[in-house]
Amino acid sequence: MILNSPRGTSDIFGSDIEYRNFIINNAKRLFSIFNYKELITPTFEHTQVFSRSIGDGTDIVQKEMYTFSDKKGRSLTLRPEGTASIVRAIIENKMYSGYLPVKVFYTGSMFRYERPQKGRMREFYQIGAEAVGTDNPIIDSEIIWLLETFFKNLGFKKLKLFINSMGCSRCRKEFVGKFKLFLEPKVDKLCTDCQKRYDLNPLRIFDCKKDNCINLISDSPKIYSSLCSDCKSHFKKVLYFLDALKIKYTVDSNLVRGFDYYTKTIFEFVSKDLQSAQNALGGGGRYDNLIQQFGGPDIPAIGFAVGVDRILMLMKQLNLEAGKEKDESKIYVIVLDGSCEEYSFDILKYLREKNYVCDLNYNIRALNSELKWAEKNGYDFAAIIGENEVKAGEVTIKDIKKRKQYKIKWDREKEKLDNLIRRAGDQANQAI
Ligand code: AMP
Repeated sequence: MILNSPRGTSDIFGSDIEYRNFIINNAKRLFSIFNYKELITPTFEHTQVFSRSIGDGTDIVQKEMYTFSDKKGRSLTLRPEGTASIVRAIIENKMYSGYLPVKVFYTGSMFRYERPQKGRMREFYQIGAEAVGTDNPIIDSEIIWLLETFFKNLGFKKLKLFINSMGCSRCRKEFVGKFKLFLEPKVDKLCTDCQKRYDLNPLRIFDCKKDNCINLISDSPKIYSSLCSDCKSHFKKVLYFLDALKIKYTVDSNLVRGFDYYTKTIFEFVSKDLQSAQNALGGGGRYDNLIQQFGGPDIPAIGFAVGVDRILMLMKQLNLEAGKEKDESKIYVIVLDGSCEEYSFDILKYLREKNYVCDLNYNIRALNSELKWAEKNGYDFAAIIGENEVKAGEVTIKDIKKRKQYKIKWDREKEKLDNLIRRAGDQANQAI
């Protein structure tokens, strides 16, 4: 019997790996520029890490966590998101006791037992960042700036940024009261999920995609009208810095995010090109009370998370390229005959010792097929070795892109090969 991967998971290989690494490496470069340091946390945590932070009433905690008991009966959960673990780690390791804010980033698999569909997996990969220890609105705009730059660097041009403020715990409480009062006469008209949300987590009703629920709340009070003066002025400053950065945004007073811990600024990057309900590429927001809630000091924080799988899917759909990491040339050593293997192996050894990206055809095929394959797989050069080359002590180098061919004396002219490969470009060609 052939076994398949579990529902909602996938094997990642081929060009997807190139895209994925390109996306992750781009993010890492930006994290370095913006001074965010990597923090790696375990893939599973004590269940309470998530239930206490994300919120008992959220879909994730109610329905979507991969929770299991270990052999000693401890309840553990595969992480459904990154922030809770990062907060746990920052507190446990007292990282808050030094310079603030602590600016960290993470990458890794997240697990949610959701109904799989296009852009929604049960294991998916997120990149995220958190800045813990300041409520300065500059950091809110910095986090959005980083994300904006990240998407721009990947080639996206038409993403929309939605932003809102959820207020602090005081103004949010007031708003939830007003909102519930508004909905009270309509509760039984809401969908069954929203009826449950009405009791457990009423703000999630704003997230419902069902037309009927959208209509029912279309003229509900807006959170902005309940914001206290501190929250209003904080939000205005965030928008001021975004304007200063010339970042375009839409203030969406209906935007809420799924976890209980959010306060003040929240935001989401959305693509109209992702043709499904799953059109958010990433988002985040402030969580000013979470650190204290976890038993840490009363310090504010903000963060974001983006989904690599969805970004990858959209890049491919829009024909955006996963560029080469470095400007390095790739060389394919083509052995034409079994008798030339030892000679070719020496060449492969030389190239690898020089740190060139190279490989050899382990199974011998016709030269034309090999060259076609090399071109298709992004090789810049082929080093071709047949009986003639071995006899003459030479290597034939084919510049696949320029469609030019050179012969090099292997024992005496290795540096010519270096010149070529190092892409001194035309100079190297003249040297030959
Ligand atoms: P969230 O942690 O729910 O705010 O999600 C942040 C980002 O992670 C989303 O915008 C998606 O890009 C991605 N994401 C969330 N859930 C999934 C999922 N089940 N499958 C794939 N990507 C997801």
